[in-house]
Amino acid sequence: MKKKFNSKFIQSLIFSKYEIKAKAVEINGETDDNFKITYKNKSFFFKIYAENTDKKFVDFQVRILEILKTNKTTANNILNHQNKLFDHFIDQNNEIRYYRMNNWVDGRLWSSVNPVKNNLRKELGIESAKLVKDLNKVKSIYKRKDFHWDLANFQWIESHYKKLELKEDTINTIKELLSDFNKNLKKYEKLRKCLIHNDLNDNNIIVSNSLVNPKIKGFIDFGDCIKTQLINELAITCCYGIINSLSPIQSSCEIIKGFNSIIKIKEEEVDFLYDLILIRISISIIKSSLNKKLQSDNKYLQISDKDMNLLFKKWSSLNKELVTCFFREACGFTPNINQIKFQKLINKRKSSVSVLFKNINSNKLKEIDLSVSSKWLTNELINDVDLFKQKINSQSDLTFCGGYLENRAVYNSSDYERLTDYGFENRTTHLGIDFWVKENTSIHAIDDGIIKNIVNDKTIKGYGGLIIIEHKLKNINYYSLYGHLSDQNKSELKIGDKIKKGEKIGEIGSTKENGGWCPHLHFQIMLSLLDFKNDFPGVCMEYEKKTWSSICPNPELILDINLSKKKPVDENKLKTARQKYLGNNLKMSYDLPVYMVRGFNQFLYSNNGKKYLDTVNNIAHVGHQNINVTNAAKNQMGILNTNTRYLHDEILSLSKNLLSKFSKKLSKVYYVNSGSEANELAIRMSNIYNQSDKYIVMEGGYHGNTNKTLEVSNYKYKSKGGKGKPKNIYEIPMPDEYRGKYRGKNASENYFKELEKIIQRTSNSNDKISAMIFEPIISCGGQIELPKEFLKKCRKILTEHNIIMICDEVQTGFGRMGEKYWGYELYDIIPDIITLGKPMGNGHPIGAVVCTQNISEKFDNGLEFFSSFGGNPVSCKIANEVIKEIDSKKLQLNADKTGLYLKTKLKQLAKKFPLIGDVRGKGLFIGMELVNEQLYPQADKAVYLVNRMKDLGILMSNDGLDKNVIKIKPPIIFSIEDSNKLVTILDKVFGEDFMLSN
Ligand code: PMP
Repeated sequence: MKKKFNSKFIQSLIFSKYEIKAKAVEINGETDDNFKITYKNKSFFFKIYAENTDKKFVDFQVRILEILKTNKTTANNILNHQNKLFDHFIDQNNEIRYYRMNNWVDGRLWSSVNPVKNNLRKELGIESAKLVKDLNKVKSIYKRKDFHWDLANFQWIESHYKKLELKEDTINTIKELLSDFNKNLKKYEKLRKCLIHNDLNDNNIIVSNSLVNPKIKGFIDFGDCIKTQLINELAITCCYGIINSLSPIQSSCEIIKGFNSIIKIKEEEVDFLYDLILIRISISIIKSSLNKKLQSDNKYLQISDKDMNLLFKKWSSLNKELVTCFFREACGFTPNINQIKFQKLINKRKSSVSVLFKNINSNKLKEIDLSVSSKWLTNELINDVDLFKQKINSQSDLTFCGGYLENRAVYNSSDYERLTDYGFENRTTHLGIDFWVKENTSIHAIDDGIIKNIVNDKTIKGYGGLIIIEHKLKNINYYSLYGHLSDQNKSELKIGDKIKKGEKIGEIGSTKENGGWCPHLHFQIMLSLLDFKNDFPGVCMEYEKKTWSSICPNPELILDINLSKKKPVDENKLKTARQKYLGNNLKMSYDLPVYMVRGFNQFLYSNNGKKYLDTVNNIAHVGHQNINVTNAAKNQMGILNTNTRYLHDEILSLSKNLLSKFSKKLSKVYYVNSGSEANELAIRMSNIYNQSDKYIVMEGGYHGNTNKTLEVSNYKYKSKGGKGKPKNIYEIPMPDEYRGKYRGKNASENYFKELEKIIQRTSNSNDKISAMIFEPIISCGGQIELPKEFLKKCRKILTEHNIIMICDEVQTGFGRMGEKYWGYELYDIIPDIITLGKPMGNGHPIGAVVCTQNISEKFDNGLEFFSSFGGNPVSCKIANEVIKEIDSKKLQLNADKTGLYLKTKLKQLAKKFPLIGDVRGKGLFIGMELVNEQLYPQADKAVYLVNRMKDLGILMSNDGLDKNVIKIKPPIIFSIEDSNKLVTILDKVFGEDFMLSN
């Protein structure tokens, strides 16, 4: 039992022995009494060993610290005034109590770090290996018998685990683990031994205070140091280093890689790692259960209980063989133990494509690229099996094939998705070769063997009919897998049947039978079945491919074919070329830019197959590479694309469709190529209309990158490199009711008064103002909704003074607002000119100006209006298709419903995280403002968030005058499911240390 010492006693003890007047505060300990001592600006750790502690043990402890003096991760023991490294006193019970003091390792506990990233785990591995190296300079080692925390002494749990209140499946798992481990005990006992720390748990690892990029600062508590198997140290480090990880295998591999870079792990050691990790977790659970019984008041003893129980579940559900393959890879061995042997043996026993298919030989094969960056695979082929069939069968004399280790975008069903440490991820890397042969094509065994598996896989985009055959190759087994066959309930074959090389085993299934694919054979080779029962993965995560490709070697080997390999793109070369050819102020998003190769609906795909949910791109309004829009463009491009100097129906039908979306007053339309051009033209029109070059703008407004639009864009002319406010520009302060100049009840009125003042001032001095330009929700300025009454009053006064009202709908138009089709409609006003862009062409450059008859007439002053590309048949066809998509798929309604749902969810998040000061916006045009308690903008948090979200597979952007607003403006096909995923990941990132810091 622990004995309580009061702080005064400790303080006077320290004063008399160390001659410092320090403050003592008790801290946690298992059996000893521990104190944090502070003296001036320094801190120390003071330990009083438990009663009956062996003096030799204390001596061992101080010798360890002495030896580790040069190790940068450990504390130095402090000599007392008699130059002793430790000493003793006699307590009230007449017991000898040893004590010592060391300096305090500054930093924070590993257990408090969130997120723990892979680079930190790797560093943990490196530093823990360095520690082991240094520990082995300690000469005489204190021996402990029957030490519960020694993994080599695991047998003690055998007599305990059944007696404790553990769940039945926990008991069964531990039973199985021990019986397995006992089988290999002899081998384990022979592994190299050395002195290890033995308790690098998450509360004994000190990490630096940096919240963004923390480093390992130190290791504490050498009380469990023992001489035992070296691999135990790595197992223990892994065990605590992966707590809370959703990718425990990858996370432990990082630690292993680090450790292995300092101390080379041996093959026979790796084999025990999986079990040893589980043994350590089991010991922790059992110890904590025992402690609950014995010392229920010492909560410190159950500190890891919850984490360890969760980890036990997670770790024991993993396949040991698979984990060991990953671990072997991390240590530089071939992941699958038989990989090299197989490669050698199979060279002497090759089969061929003509064995597999009988009628096809390798001359008739043609490799096809179905990778995420494939130029052959247009998006429409991904979900339309019939179209895919047509294209694949277009060259009937050849058989398309290929795809080994290809990163593909086609595995988009939920069966391929999981939540990992890197967000919602899909398995994308293909492990077999596909042969795109016709339905009913006969399939033959590639070698003699025994049917190991014959099933129908019913999952969407699964295998359908599936056969796996086991083959013997000298003293190793290998397996061939034939997927996407016909209904195997009709097959006469059964598990255990002997099959001869070339014997027919089945036929290619129809789309109905084969998991919904265009008919083809998925052929894969495996060197192990791991524990898979009715299927076997045909795809893996991209970052797992080194390990999986060792388990599933390239089938080209056995089929004696050699398909050409696509050369990977060197992203560094792209970066260099960008620097060489493009201007430096053409910026890229994110700290580490992403190389995107495909867009599909609300997703973008990078070259390595990673799928990103896009919440930024409002240009891809009806979805990236929307199939109908793409086809409309392709078709019209193949027929006619010319300028507006000829009669053409497309421009007229677009104009009719477009104008039908506006009130009757707005009856004329002009076509240009961008939002900037639309605003440029609108300004020119108002200039001609009012014969004046003076404009009212809003603070934070952005209207384009041309000279004139820059002149009216406060967001630009005020920012770095901008020219400042031009003389002909009059500014209204940003009508931001949350953090703007005026807030609260009279805000709307006060903002209006600012406009009133400008108008009064200019009319008194006969300074005619031409127009006021505004965005219905100020976007780049920070997703600011305008006060409703404010705009209504603006409308009235502008009319009275014949000032044109230009509403820039470049961001807000085309149904995004949900409730209304256009942004201005939210405010019950009708502007004189509306400008359009971005979403209008879903990525194709088209913009437009819509105005009243009157303005149009005045604009026609003799000077011809002409734009070479504006209004061409292709652009008009595309814009027409965009409008059609919005209408036919009821996307405005979707923006309304999903937007409302998402906003509600974000508001709930704001209650949990006060950093989110305001959630605002309409439909799928939302802003989330990050501020501290004093409403001071938190741009660094916004930048952190955006970059972390990108790492976790969600594209976001930050903007606003203070760059502290997260703008959410996804394609308006964004769904409730997407919103849930977004909020799940936001919740995770908002909970991270940097986001929670002051
Ligand atoms: N107006 C607004 C409100 C905008 O947000 C933008 C572009 N961000 C533009 C005009 C200019 O459009 P573009 O870049 O297509 O010329």
